[in-house]
Amino acid sequence: MFAIYLLAFIAITNVFAFQSNDIYDEVRGSRNLTGKVVLVTGSSSGIGEQIVKLFSALGANVVVTGTKDADIQRVVKEAQDLSPQKLKPLGLAADLTKTDELEKLVNETIKTFTKLDVLVNNAGIYLTANLMDKKFWDTFAAYEKIDVTAALQLIQQAVPYLQKTKGSIISISSVIIQRPQKGMLAYGLAKECLDMSTRQKGMLAYGLAKECLDMSTRVLSLELAPLIRVNAISPGSVLSHPLNTTDPVAVAQYNKTIKSTPLARIGQPSDIAKGVVFLASSDAEFITGHNLVIDGGLNYNMDSNFSNP
Ligand code: NAD
Repeated sequence: MFAIYLLAFIAITNVFAFQSNDIYDEVRGSRNLTGKVVLVTGSSSGIGEQIVKLFSALGANVVVTGTKDADIQRVVKEAQDLSPQKLKPLGLAADLTKTDELEKLVNETIKTFTKLDVLVNNAGIYLTANLMDKKFWDTFAAYEKIDVTAALQLIQQAVPYLQKTKGSIISISSVIIQRPQKGMLAYGLAKECLDMSTRQKGMLAYGLAKECLDMSTRVLSLELAPLIRVNAISPGSVLSHPLNTTDPVAVAQYNKTIKSTPLARIGQPSDIAKGVVFLASSDAEFITGHNLVIDGGLNYNMDSNFSNP
């Protein structure tokens, strides 16, 4: 009898020991992204550039894309240098406002690497306009084209491939901008936009576009489950280009950001890239429909005029 209890005890403790080791090894290895294929829009500069570089340094095959060839080629080279296996990224210029170029981007990715594991919707523009400005609708249309239409078209193109790899989508939203209903994406987008319309001074079009992107993340996390996880990241203020110290407005905004940020510094592209890698990694395998705010606590200290120097 004692022998049976002893055997049962050994079996149970072995099961727990096995599970524990599994978890430790899995987390230790979770940043080894060898064999993964990652497409990051807007990766020829700023935050997107740092995201592709980090994925490349962790062993992934990456796609570098943007609108300027010279920038794309520079990032391709720098990302390849960082790759442990010296994997050459695919570099491709594509204007995301043109559906044929966007389709080509996904097709070339599959042609080159045969699959897709991670899609990062990062490309973006930065314009300001109040509702009563003449340029408001042009500004809104420009945001809508990239943050909403292009992001959703890319997701549509990528989903068949992401389903095969049980992949993941990460969209770069904004701290500027919180229950989704399955099948109610268009309604959700409209209501979110309406809600945002009540809140942002001078940042209405930007805020509307980011709310749409965020609602898409939540609805698609339902529609694309269980095979594909869909998440977003909301950066605070990120120094995506070197500070122009001769521009007093840029310097004033920089100083204001540091003063308003509880963690007392401006964000770096690497802060966002680390968040993207985490959400793409197995450590985040039970996380979907989430918007991860990476802002050093800025959003709790932002006044409504924060973006207006
Ligand atoms: P950035 O200007 O350095 O990068 C933007 C990228 O988007 C570039 O590579 C550009 O080529 C690409 N792009 C723009 N229009 C395009 C088009 N029509 N077709 C294809 N590519 C296009 O800017 P960033 O600061 O690195 O911003 C990256 C993302 O982070 C954006 O979505 C932005 O809204 C978001 N964001 C940035 C901050 C910040 O403080 N920098 C804060 C919150 C959110």
